[in-house]
Amino acid sequence: MTQPILPGATLGVLGSGQLGRMFALAARRLGYRVHVLSPDQDSPTGQIADVEIAASYDDLDAVARFAQEVSVVTFEFENVPARTAEVAARYAPVRPDYRVLHTTQNRLREKTTLADAGFPVTPFRAVRGAEELTAALEQLGRPAVLKTADWGYDGKGQLRVERHDDPATAWARLGAGEAILEAFIDFEQEVSVVAARGLDGSLALYGPIGNRHRNHILDLSVYPADTTPETSRRALEIARAVMETLDVVGVLCVEFFLTADGQLLINELAPRPHNSGHLTIDACVTCQFEQQVRAACGLPLGSDRLLAPAAMANLLGDLWRSGTPHWSAALAVPEVKLHLYGKRSALPGRKMGHLTALGATPHEAAERALAARAALVEHSTT
Ligand code: AMP
Repeated sequence: MTQPILPGATLGVLGSGQLGRMFALAARRLGYRVHVLSPDQDSPTGQIADVEIAASYDDLDAVARFAQEVSVVTFEFENVPARTAEVAARYAPVRPDYRVLHTTQNRLREKTTLADAGFPVTPFRAVRGAEELTAALEQLGRPAVLKTADWGYDGKGQLRVERHDDPATAWARLGAGEAILEAFIDFEQEVSVVAARGLDGSLALYGPIGNRHRNHILDLSVYPADTTPETSRRALEIARAVMETLDVVGVLCVEFFLTADGQLLINELAPRPHNSGHLTIDACVTCQFEQQVRAACGLPLGSDRLLAPAAMANLLGDLWRSGTPHWSAALAVPEVKLHLYGKRSALPGRKMGHLTALGATPHEAAERALAARAALVEHSTT
């Protein structure tokens, strides 16, 4: 049995956004040191880490030096090139394994792997040109959703193909070499399960969490989701099976569409902590970021028990449009916690932070999170 990596050791994280920041906060609370590598400087993660290395992910010499200095490497977003993780793996264990990254960073590979293993996924076709798109549209029907195979998140690199759209024009607009066409799912709800799996195969599961999006970006998460016990059981079971099939050591989020007739279809996987799991920081015995630390270090996972119903509202840069948000007004709402990511410029659509609220019921928690967010701009200083 591999020895666990104990507090005092140095953990490496590839990628330096808010997910790395919250990972670093959890790691430092447990007494670890943190090194981060990404192309950026003074990044959300770098502000918390002991050492921030600004280098391109393709600078494999820098990646090798980084990996030599740490006991384990993990990542905080899936678009770190799999090659980078592969080079790091020569010097330190990479958890999850770079093969998980390779599978999940391409939508086509991800859906094919899941479908081949018998998981329920959105019906899809691989598309490499306008002609294939025409054929795929005939098979899947319209509307349909055309997505680039690589580099997709928060609805980037995707477009809806409507009844009268010309396939050649849609293909040109997407501008991708390889794409995936998915049937449009008229879902009743989007839900997610955040799963953690330890080196010993043990599991911790959070979910299902109910997710509402606005402009393709997560807006509000509520846990527990408003689903039947049978749907919840199935969502957790699918997530458990995905973790085992992909042999994930670390945290992975399974995002689902739930249809009106109760079908759960996997929309996508994220092989890292997920925005919908941020509420676990304030609402669970162990949060998703601490689970990432524990899994990466080969320690026992913590309890995933939910302490109180919770809701999380994202804070996008748009909230800064008419001045500094009124933090005091939001913090005056009962049982609300504020998390800001230390980003300097508040661009529209940019995730700047989030609010988590607890409540006696999921509904009360959601009302509080939304009231706190509304208070930020109702009273903002100009
Ligand atoms: P994605 O980047 O694939 O997670 O997509 C972002 C959001 O777009 C999802 O959370 C859905 O709200 C919507 N979406 C993506 N794919 C589909 C689909 N096949 N049918 C309906 N809505 C979709």
